[in-house]
Amino acid sequence: MTDRPACEYLEGCPIFRHFRKYAQRVYIDIYCQGDYAICQRYQLRTAGATVPESLLPHGGTLWDREKPA
Ligand code: SF4
Repeated sequence: MTDRPACEYLEGCPIFRHFRKYAQRVYIDIYCQGDYAICQRYQLRTAGATVPESLLPHGGTLWDREKPA
């Protein structure tokens, strides 16, 4: 963790219901309490756009691997 301020959307951010604790910690360290301005969810939400449930902070989606090749 850093001394930087955390993302204002961290409390209740819906993406974390899909992750186990370890994965949550990784995402929080990298994005939410790190460089949250690069989070795709943060950018959409800050712009007032709808944030897809499956959108991951790096821009991929939870269900990418389920799409047919
Ligand atoms: S995933 Fe993105 S929008 Fe959600 S709390 Fe973390 S930095 Fe903020």
